[in-house]
Amino acid sequence: MSIKKVVKYGDETLRRPSKEVSKISKKIQTLVHDLLDTMYAKNGVGLAAPQIGENLRVFVIDVSTGNQPLHPMVFINPKIIKKSGAVSSYEGCLSFPDAYTDVKRYANVMVKALDIHGKPFTIEGKDGSLLARAIQHEFDHLDGVLFIDHCRNRFEADKILSEHGLAPVEGDRILDEPELDKALESIPANPGETVLPEGQNSQKEDEKVD
Ligand code: ZN
Repeated sequence: MSIKKVVKYGDETLRRPSKEVSKISKKIQTLVHDLLDTMYAKNGVGLAAPQIGENLRVFVIDVSTGNQPLHPMVFINPKIIKKSGAVSSYEGCLSFPDAYTDVKRYANVMVKALDIHGKPFTIEGKDGSLLARAIQHEFDHLDGVLFIDHCRNRFEADKILSEHGLAPVEGDRILDEPELDKALESIPANPGETVLPEGQNSQKEDEKVD
């Protein structure tokens, strides 16, 4: 169990699709603990295995805030089985230090996965909640997809990335999401309005989650 270095944007590990876990071995359990230790050390809400250099289909999430007890959730070989609605989400990512931008997400998502003991479970994130958005953000990491690929305004995203010394959005990575575009047409992109799956747990977020 240890705190690992988080892979930063630009490293090709983040763009590589991850492999299914074939057996919940000791190695996988150690990976899960490393993910949790690293996520908590960085005040993150979620972390996916490729972000610590392992291209395996594993991620962790903890959406507890403030004085709530920790509530770690482990997702191994997750499958998204249902998604609906749309929400504008102001997101960050531990692989993009301090860079946040508005992205398009489904409001509701249902995921099936295995826990650390290999037991299957199903969980639903609803109404654009932090959990709903964190699941989508972390799940994407397993397919080499990054939050900026869902950006609502490419120019704004590029500006923020360049302010943080990061490479611009790769144009051919931007996802075609007509369903979400249509649903979000009337909602202006508004940085700061909503919260961020992976960044720091802020006071603002506590208010929003409650
Ligand atoms: Zn991320």
